[in-house]
Amino acid sequence: MSEYTEPTKFIDLESQQKKIRRAIEESIFNVLDHGQYIMGPEVLDFEKDLLAFTKSKHAITCGNGTDALTIALMSWNIGPGDAVFVPSFTYVATAEAPAQIGATPFFIDVSRNSFNVELNSFKQAIIDSKKLGLVPKAIIPVDLFGQISITDELISIANENNINVLVDGAQSFGAELNEVKTGNFGDITTTSFFPAKPLGCYGDGGAIFTNNDDLAEKIRSIRLHGKGSQKYDNIRVGVNSRLDTIQAAILREKIKIFGDELVMRDSIAKYYSKNLSSFVRTPIIRKNSKSAWAQYTIQLPKRNELQSFLKDRNIPSITYYPIPLSQQIGYSHFPSVSSGLSSSEELPTSVLSLPMSPYMETATLDNIINSISEFCTLNNISSKHD
Ligand SMILES: *Cc1c(COP(=O)(O)O)cnc(C)c1O
Repeated sequence: MSEYTEPTKFIDLESQQKKIRRAIEESIFNVLDHGQYIMGPEVLDFEKDLLAFTKSKHAITCGNGTDALTIALMSWNIGPGDAVFVPSFTYVATAEAPAQIGATPFFIDVSRNSFNVELNSFKQAIIDSKKLGLVPKAIIPVDLFGQISITDELISIANENNINVLVDGAQSFGAELNEVKTGNFGDITTTSFFPAKPLGCYGDGGAIFTNNDDLAEKIRSIRLHGKGSQKYDNIRVGVNSRLDTIQAAILREKIKIFGDELVMRDSIAKYYSKNLSSFVRTPIIRKNSKSAWAQYTIQLPKRNELQSFLKDRNIPSITYYPIPLSQQIGYSHFPSVSSGLSSSEELPTSVLSLPMSPYMETATLDNIINSISEFCTLNNISSKHD
C-alpha cells in the first residue's frame, strides 16, 4: 500500500470547519429563519463577544478591515492636506485607507527585527511632512504578522506632536502585551475577519475598537451613512460598511474556540523557532507579549531558492510582502521619509512565511523543518553568519 500524504496547506481552514461545522450550519440557519440579514441580533451579540474577549470599551463591527481603517481616519476628520504616516513594509490597505479619503500616506521605515515602525524614521517624517506643507495628523503602526507593535516611545512621540495613533491590527486580533489584548492600544485599533486572518469569517468582515466614547459614537454614525439619532437623519458624510448578520453568526461560533486556537498557534510557532533558529532568522517576540501568529515569517539569504526547494516537496510558502508600498505603481508618487526606507526595501528580498494554522500536525511540521534544515545545510546557511 502506498503511503498517501496530503499536500501541506498554507492555511488549513478545513480542519477547523470539520470541528464546528454543525454549530456553524445551525447558526446560519437561525439567520435564515429570522431574516434580519442586515444588523440582525447576531451582529450586536458578536460585538458583545468582542468586548468580553478584548476588554476594550467599544467594539464596532464593519464591512472589512480596510473600511475599518478608513472609518477610523474619518472619525478624526482627516482628509486633503493631512499626512498619515504608514510603514512602507505592510499590506496595501494600510496606505489605501488614507489615500481613499484624499489624505497623504507618508511612508516611513520599519525595524528589521520587529517588522514594525522605526521610531527615528517616524520622527524624521514629522519634520519632512511639515516642510512639504502637510499637517501631520495620524500614524498607522501595523501589528505585522500578529504581534502587538505599540511602544510607549511611539505613543509619546505621537502625543508630543498631536498625532493620532491608529493601530492596524488586521493580523493581530487575539494578541496581547502585558496581559492586555489587542483593541486597547493607541487611540483606535482596527481588525479584519478576512477568512485567512487569525479569526476569520466566510466572507469579508472587520471591527474597530476604542476606549474613547466620543470617537465610538462618531464611528457608529460613519459606518451607517453618517446617521444621527434617527434613521433618516444624516449628520455627516459616512459610508455603508456593516458586518453581515450571517458573518456575525459564523464569527460567534468561531470566537468560542479562538482562545484555544491561539494557544495551539503559539506552540506551533515555538516548535518552528526551536528547530529553525540556528539556520535562519526566526521571529523575535517582545517580552510579556503573545503574538496571534497570523504568519510565521523567517528571514534568510537565498529566499527564492528555498521557496522553490520547498515547492518541489509540495510545501507552500509565501512572500509577504514582495514589494514595498513606496515602490508600488499606484503609490510611488506619495512622499517617503528623507532618511530612506532601507529595511522596507531589504525585507521583501529575504522574508518567507511558512504554513501556519492551529491544527497542524507534528509530522507536517517536522517535514517542513527537515526540508528547511536540509536546504540550509546544503547551502551553508546559518543564522550566525547573518
Ligand atoms: C488584511 C489586512 C488589511 C485589510 O483587511 P480586509 O478585511 O482584507 O480589508 C489591512 N491591513 C493589514 C495589515 C492586513 O493584513
